[in-house]
Amino acid sequence: MSKVVCVLYDDPVTGYPKKYARDDLPKLTHYPDGQSLPTPQGIDFKPGALLGSVSGELGLRKFLESRGHKLVVTSDKDGPKSRLAKEIVDAEILISQPFWPAYATADLIGKAPKLKLIVTAGIGSDHTDLQAAMNRGITVAEVTYCNSISVSEHVVMMILSLVRNYIPSHDWVVKGGWNIADCVERSYDVEGMNVGTVAAGRIGLAVLRRMKPFDVKLHYTDRHRLPESVEQELGLTFHQSVESMVRVCDVVTINCPLHPETEGMFNDALIAKMKRGAYIVNTARGKICDRDAIVRALKSGQLAGYAGDVWFPQPPPRNHPWRTMPHEGMTPHISGSSLSAQSRYAAGTREILECYFDRRPIRSEYLIVDRGQLAGTGKHSYSAGNATRGSEEAAKFKAAPASAPAAKKKPKARKKKTR
Ligand code: NDP
Repeated sequence: MSKVVCVLYDDPVTGYPKKYARDDLPKLTHYPDGQSLPTPQGIDFKPGALLGSVSGELGLRKFLESRGHKLVVTSDKDGPKSRLAKEIVDAEILISQPFWPAYATADLIGKAPKLKLIVTAGIGSDHTDLQAAMNRGITVAEVTYCNSISVSEHVVMMILSLVRNYIPSHDWVVKGGWNIADCVERSYDVEGMNVGTVAAGRIGLAVLRRMKPFDVKLHYTDRHRLPESVEQELGLTFHQSVESMVRVCDVVTINCPLHPETEGMFNDALIAKMKRGAYIVNTARGKICDRDAIVRALKSGQLAGYAGDVWFPQPPPRNHPWRTMPHEGMTPHISGSSLSAQSRYAAGTREILECYFDRRPIRSEYLIVDRGQLAGTGKHSYSAGNATRGSEEAAKFKAAPASAPAAKKKPKARKKKTR
């Protein structure tokens, strides 16, 4: 019998849904590069259901219990008194999602002598201290590609929202206004702009493909260059360094993993090299950007806007400055957790567990760490080390009253000027 601890985000405040906005999901068989979607032997959920929250249980309970395993599901994940800290001591498998990550620090791993497998039900395993996992021989796996396209759609939405000033304009409608000048004084067309991605992996390349029809000039920087045919097809300009790329871009989208090489990449020095009035969209990881440098740049006007769904830590404290900084288009970490993506990452998690229990190899594209070293996708896209430092701060979120979300002061409706 194995004990599986699964950390998931809370159910909706209105309760677990009884019905959904739509009745079905489109049926996909392959990802754009030909990789097959998850292939578990079976699933015990209806695609389109809310699986990523506590009551959804990633659709795993029946499967695990029918094989005699114990499943513990909790959202209480941060701090030494959390349910996670209590349950991890005899757990063999830890599952969580980047949206509500169980920070598998060296300390937590040290408290879990039986831990053998850490699964990210999603993409991005930076919430695990990969070095500590390597040292202990723990396998780390994630569901590669499961939500890459979901995120790329979100990136396009955020680029358009920022450049066209969508959210503040929407706010005027809700406030009962018709303040066209207030809405458009920061509104531009994307057409003709220089748009660049830091990393052209699964998400980065999908963003480039989706931005192409907007008649923009496309740029990228990456550790490995894309095939020449792809560069030509999309008219891409490759940059050897991120510095070279940001100098010419009006919009920069960040799509690389967080690892020691990318932590704090967008700091004061790099942002100073950007064009004044550039936009950053970061759906990769909060820690790739220096928190306070972003706030400073938005206040000074060096950046015209910043949007994203990734923060550090998660959940961020209620007084995190990104909640209230000017010209932001932030959401909680949701881009990779659409109901469509959930059915894929739940199925992928089940596939990984079936392989583990049946002693079959886990697909190499799902592997991040195996047999004490970076493996599979981890070997290609990550560098060794630890990016979990500072995650203890996530415990502060709980300490604040649940009914007091930080609300940004909305601008008062100004009197119309008549000339
Ligand atoms: P991929 O592994 O397909 O792509 C990652 C790319 O980043 C690779 O091309 C890799 O280069 C490149 N890269 C790594 N380090 C650097 C660096 N220092 N400079 C430039 N490029 C670098 O992953 P995905 O595209 O699917 O996902 C990327 C990241 O997006 C995830 O790691 C995760 O952090 C985040 N994500 C966010 C989600 C959300 O919900 N917001 C959901 C899913 C992912 P190479 O391999 O060529 O060395």
